[in-house]
Amino acid sequence: MTALGPLPPTAAVRLVKEAVQDAYADYGSEASRWLDGFTRQGGQVFCGAGCFGCCNMPIRLSLAEALIVRDALNAEKLAAVEAHARQVLANARTAPDEDVYVRRHRLEVGYCPLLDRATGQCSEYESRPTRCRDTFSAFPARYCTEGYWESLSPRDKRQYARDVARTPGTDGELHYIAPLEYLSEPVWEAAAGAMDRAFGLQVWGDFWVLVSLSARPDFMAAVEAGDGRAALKAAQAAGLSHPMILEIE
Ligand code: SF4
Repeated sequence: MTALGPLPPTAAVRLVKEAVQDAYADYGSEASRWLDGFTRQGGQVFCGAGCFGCCNMPIRLSLAEALIVRDALNAEKLAAVEAHARQVLANARTAPDEDVYVRRHRLEVGYCPLLDRATGQCSEYESRPTRCRDTFSAFPARYCTEGYWESLSPRDKRQYARDVARTPGTDGELHYIAPLEYLSEPVWEAAAGAMDRAFGLQVWGDFWVLVSLSARPDFMAAVEAGDGRAALKAAQAAGLSHPMILEIE
């Protein structure tokens, strides 16, 4: 399968991708520096190659990030991403609330199609979005598994809360490493600013839906024209729109 070429490399698309890639590079350096200090002081990070417990979480990103992922995908992967996107949308259309949406996403929509299940590794590691770069666990992988916390007894849940509260690097409530998420804020800001400058609007939403939309010339033409209404119409015509899933601001 040959790689699809990038969409016509307009100046606007180049601008948003470069802004995010620069921000990814800065985040990578900052995060490595922070992690070195954290582990030197005895902090523990349980994430590593082959661990994919969080790759079935819903992921929100910007169109700027989606364009980077889209450029990395061949036709087969792009089709798999769009199939996943349609499952995401079916879930959004029928979920009665956000909790059910998230739980069904993890259990039924399932793992990201870019996950290589044979190795447990991300097959598009270099282009993965911000959320995949800044999610780190201070607890073993079983705590990241859907349903694990819910399966704990009330006593074990109280112990979990005490353990989280005294574990360095957490926000005191969840077992994820909070400073690594805070450090990624400039990436979100870079994406927002670049989309404003390049398109005159911002597009945010579900990872797999936005990657699929970023491959559609009619959607991208509307975005590049700064025409949010036409972009939304193109997404609706493609069956890739839902208010929970696609925001054009
Ligand atoms: S892009 Fe990679 S790291 Fe992110 S969810 Fe998909 S497989 Fe996991």
